[in-house]
Amino acid sequence: MTTGPGIGASIGIALFPDTAADAEQLMLQADTALYRAKQEGRNTRRFYQAQMGAELRDRLALERDLRLALEGNQLRVVYQPQVDIRSGRLTGFEALLRWTHPERGEISPADFIPIAEESGLILQIGEWVLGAAAREAARWTAPLEVAVNVSAVQIHAADFVGTLRDILARSGLDPSRLEIEITETALVRDAGRAAETLEAIRALGIRVAMDDFGTGYSSLANLRTFRFSRLKVDRSFIRDVDHNRQSAAIVRAVLGLGAGLDIPVVAEGVERQEELDFLRRESCASVQGFLIGRPQGIEHFAEQTSGRRAHLDGGARPPLRVVG
Ligand code: C2E
Ligand code: MG
Ligand code: MG
Repeated sequence: MTTGPGIGASIGIALFPDTAADAEQLMLQADTALYRAKQEGRNTRRFYQAQMGAELRDRLALERDLRLALEGNQLRVVYQPQVDIRSGRLTGFEALLRWTHPERGEISPADFIPIAEESGLILQIGEWVLGAAAREAARWTAPLEVAVNVSAVQIHAADFVGTLRDILARSGLDPSRLEIEITETALVRDAGRAAETLEAIRALGIRVAMDDFGTGYSSLANLRTFRFSRLKVDRSFIRDVDHNRQSAAIVRAVLGLGAGLDIPVVAEGVERQEELDFLRRESCASVQGFLIGRPQGIEHFAEQTSGRRAHLDGGARPPLRVVG
C-alpha cells in the first residue's frame, strides 16, 4: 500500500456485541477507531478498544485548553543559544514554545504541536510565536539571529508570506536576522507550491533552515531544489557521535554534503564535551545543546542581547573555547 500524498483509505472497526451494546454505540466506536487510524498515519485500519475513547476525550480536552491558552497568557517563548564552534561566539537563538497548563503544568511541544497542527490552531499559535520572537529580537542591541520553528501547515496556508511580511513590518526586525526552521514534511505535500513559498520567503530576506535533518526523507533532491541557509543535524545522530561508528559516519556525511553544497551545518542536542570535540574536529559550523545552554527565558541572556558580552558565561558548564 502506498503512503504517499495521493488518495488513500483509513478504516475504523467496531464489533457488535463485543464492545458495543447498540447501533449508536457501534457507530461512535467505529468513528473513534477511524480517528485513531487517521492519526496513526492513514492508509491503515484500527479496531476499537475501550481505552481509545478515554484517549480521544483527553485529546479533545487538550485541544479545547490549547484554544484558551492563547488568550490566557499560558504560552511563552524560551530561547536556546546557538554558538559558532570556531570562535565560541553566540550567533543567535532558537525560539521554542512552552505551554504551562493551569492544571497539568508544563506540556511538551512534542505533545501539543501535533494537536495544534491537526486542529488548525497552529496557524494562530505559529503567528503568535513568530510575532513574539521578532518583537523580542528587534529590541536587542546586539544583532543576534533568531530561528523560529514553522510547521508544514503554516507553509501551506494561504498567504503565509504575507503573514511574515506583516510581522517584519510590525516588529521592525531586519529580515536577515530571522530564520525559519522547517522539517522535510513541509516539502512532501505539494512540493512545487512549497518551493514557491520558500522562494518568496527567501525573497523577503528571511533564511530557511532544514530542521531534524536525517530523520525524515533526507531527500538529496530537496537540497538541490531549495537553497537552505543551514542544515540542522538531528540530535539522535549527535548523541554518542564520539564513540558510535554509525552516528559518526552519518554526521561526517552530512558535514561533507554541507561543505560541498556550501550550506553550514548546525549540530543539535550537544550534551557532552566529547561530542563537541568531535564536531569541532570535523569542522561543523555551529552547535546547540544542553552543554552550551538550555532553552531559557531571554532575561537569562541579557548580557549577550545587550552586546556587553559576545560569549556565554562559563557558569557551571565548561566555557566554550577554541582549543588547539
Ligand atoms: P526542534 O525544533 O528540533 O527543537 C529542538 C528540541 O531539542 C527542543 O525541544 C530543545 O529543547 C531540545 N534540545 C535542545 N538541546 C538539547 C539537548 O542537548 N538534549 C536534549 N535531550 N534535548 C535538547 P522542545 O523545546 O521540547 O521542542 C520539541 C519540538 O517541538 C521542536 O523540535 C519543534 O519541532 C517543536 N516546536 C517547538 N516550538 C515550536 C514552535 O514554536 N512551532 C512549531 N511549529 N514547532 C515547535
Ligand atoms: Mg527547530
Ligand atoms: Mg530539530
